[in-house]
Amino acid sequence: MPVLKPDFAAAFDAWPVPAAILDVDLKYMTCNAAYEAISHRSRQSLVGRFLFDVFPGSDGAQQDALKQSFRRVLSTGKPQHISSARYGFTVSEGKNVERSWTVSNIPLFSSGERMIGILHCPLDITRLTQGDQSQAEHPIDDDEALVVRAAQSVLNSEGARLQELFHQAPGFICVLEGPRHVYELANDAYYQLVGHRAIIGHELADVLPEVISQGFLDKLDRVYRTGEPFIGRAMPIQLQRVVGAPLEMRYIDLIYQPVLNASRQVTGIFVQGNDVTEAYTLAQEVAYQAAHDALTGLFNRREFAKRIERVAGPGPHALLYMDIDHFKIVNDRCGHAAGDSLLKEVATVLSAIAGESGDLARVGGDEFALLLPNHTSDAGVQLAHRLRRAVKDVNFVWNGKRYGVTLSVGAATFTDAVWDTLENALGLADAACFLAKEAGRDRVKLGLPSDEDVWRQLAEMDNVTRLKEALRDDRVVLYGQKIEPIGTNDGTDVTYFEVLCRLRDIEGKNIPPSGFIPAAERFGMIEALDRHIVAKSFAHFSALPAEVRARVGYFINLSGITLGSAGFLAFVGKLLEELPNVDAKRICFEVTETATISDMRRSAAAMQELSARGFRFALDDFGSGMATFAYLQQLPVQFVKIDGDFVRAILDSEASCIIVESVVRLANCMGMQVIAEAVETPELLAALGPLGVHFGQGYVLHMPEDLEKAVYQEVGSIRSRHDVRCRRD
Ligand code: C2E
Ligand code: CA
Ligand code: CA
Repeated sequence: MPVLKPDFAAAFDAWPVPAAILDVDLKYMTCNAAYEAISHRSRQSLVGRFLFDVFPGSDGAQQDALKQSFRRVLSTGKPQHISSARYGFTVSEGKNVERSWTVSNIPLFSSGERMIGILHCPLDITRLTQGDQSQAEHPIDDDEALVVRAAQSVLNSEGARLQELFHQAPGFICVLEGPRHVYELANDAYYQLVGHRAIIGHELADVLPEVISQGFLDKLDRVYRTGEPFIGRAMPIQLQRVVGAPLEMRYIDLIYQPVLNASRQVTGIFVQGNDVTEAYTLAQEVAYQAAHDALTGLFNRREFAKRIERVAGPGPHALLYMDIDHFKIVNDRCGHAAGDSLLKEVATVLSAIAGESGDLARVGGDEFALLLPNHTSDAGVQLAHRLRRAVKDVNFVWNGKRYGVTLSVGAATFTDAVWDTLENALGLADAACFLAKEAGRDRVKLGLPSDEDVWRQLAEMDNVTRLKEALRDDRVVLYGQKIEPIGTNDGTDVTYFEVLCRLRDIEGKNIPPSGFIPAAERFGMIEALDRHIVAKSFAHFSALPAEVRARVGYFINLSGITLGSAGFLAFVGKLLEELPNVDAKRICFEVTETATISDMRRSAAAMQELSARGFRFALDDFGSGMATFAYLQQLPVQFVKIDGDFVRAILDSEASCIIVESVVRLANCMGMQVIAEAVETPELLAALGPLGVHFGQGYVLHMPEDLEKAVYQEVGSIRSRHDVRCRRD
């Protein structure tokens, strides 16, 4: 007679007692027909869902009682029974019913004694509790054994599907059994990681001998011994992935989870993880780029700031600020490729000398900084000199031409004292570097907080910062001061204003030019400032009503650097295109005598071109340098402004009177007009007329005020003067 193999799955389904199989996370794996009936749910709708999502109960207390039962099963590995409990659930759309139940929760184990699920059998005893004993449904004890076996069988058939999932899982998984970590199973991803070695049934130490010295065996031993899981992120591991090949570095996220038997003893370790090498190396690459200068490979400014902040210990710590002398010459004459090459060469030399003593960074175009933790100022300065000498030895050749390279270094120290902040130190080193440059380059200067020069330097740097911010926020304010005709002049009906700039600070106070122009000149910002003011003045002029425009003109100050700079002509040309209302004849640029003479050829060329476009020129601060009269003939200058100091002196000295008189006479010969500056008193004004001076400018005539105000105040008197002139004509 053939032995009938019982079909447990069919038996489970046909069994009259409602039963569901849950995994250890209390998610439905399957259920039988009786369960479908009492729960008013289909098996399909349940599988994969968390029991308490489907049946949350009517209140928290109901849910807690059931949860506690499951928790006990999971923690003790023993069946739990709830003899009677109320539990509500929805039977159809919105309809809630409250029932009494007796519930059995029975743990299910794999052949390896690992708990893999719970058999959950809820029995409706509502009627029983209501006294109708005849309708009571109760599992018979003998049947319980049967149903457990049935459930086990269902699990086995589900197992095939689970096994497939396990093998295809993207992360690697393996189960190690016993204290010697014998492979029980492993998925495809794990095989890929370890290079397709034969592993099942072998000890980990035999399969992967290379990981023993890397500490992984110790970690497994500890998990096995203590029952505490281990979690590692992006752990470096060297593996031999191809037979005979050298070790390969991989990065893995890793979890070692102890496997417990029913009596809570560790029987093995569940290993799970991901090979994150690609993501890790990409992240490393990004982090590297974020912290390093692409050209030189040194730290960048951001990273340097971070490292300074992280410096530990009482100090003193030293900081060096380095600037390549005359870098601009190489860059301008030979091009950016040459500049880059020079920077790389200097960076190489600096790193070689700095070695491990500190963090070297490129903090600006041609600026480097070195942070030297736990260095005295003496040690810092000594190293600075070594760096300076090494750079001097650089033999930089470009297109067959040799360029001398030198380095200016500023040094400073700081400690961890609160008042001695790192910004101060950085500022000090930066200021000292600037002073080293000014002192003749190729030298080292130690910046001490007691050093007057350094403080002055720091103040100037502050001014530069202030100016940059003001330009950015458009806080440059235009003032105007009238230039008044004195005595005889050409009878013009145009009123001229000298445009004078102010910076409005954050509190709304105006800072005079002495607070930022010298710093702007020193730190290479004057051209930007001049352009800003020229553009603003043109825009101001252009926005005036036509009748006002016909009656006013602006004198605009230009520094010599701006006038001689390559792009200025194009800049002005573009402005004229954008602002066609601007009449070049009404704009007179003021340039100083010294600026013009220092680069005569360039200035003259620029002035000629601007003059050809209709602009006029005034020679500002004209003073003792009478010799410049010789040059004046070569320059298209229409006005000469006599410096305030000279003007003031005419009341005290006969000689000064004679000088001014002769200036006027010479000017007249050359078709120029003379403006006296700083006319502060009525006596001075009275004295100027007889000397033949054409115009005066000063507090007694007009206090500088907001340009807009000055111009519109003038409009009224322009009109009345215009009327007078018409009547006279
Ligand atoms: P500056 O070109 O010689 O301008 C005349 C300066 O003398 C102005 O000072 C003006 O306010 C002042 N002043 C006018 N009348 C009198 C007076 O009766 N007595 C005395 N003692 N001073 C008088 P401010 O505005 O402080 O300008 C100072 C300097 O700043 C200017 O000297 C000029 O060199 C520079 N500056 C002003 N605005 C600009 C500008 O927009 N661009 C450039 N590049 N430089 C400017
Ligand atoms: Ca001026
Ligand atoms: Ca002046």
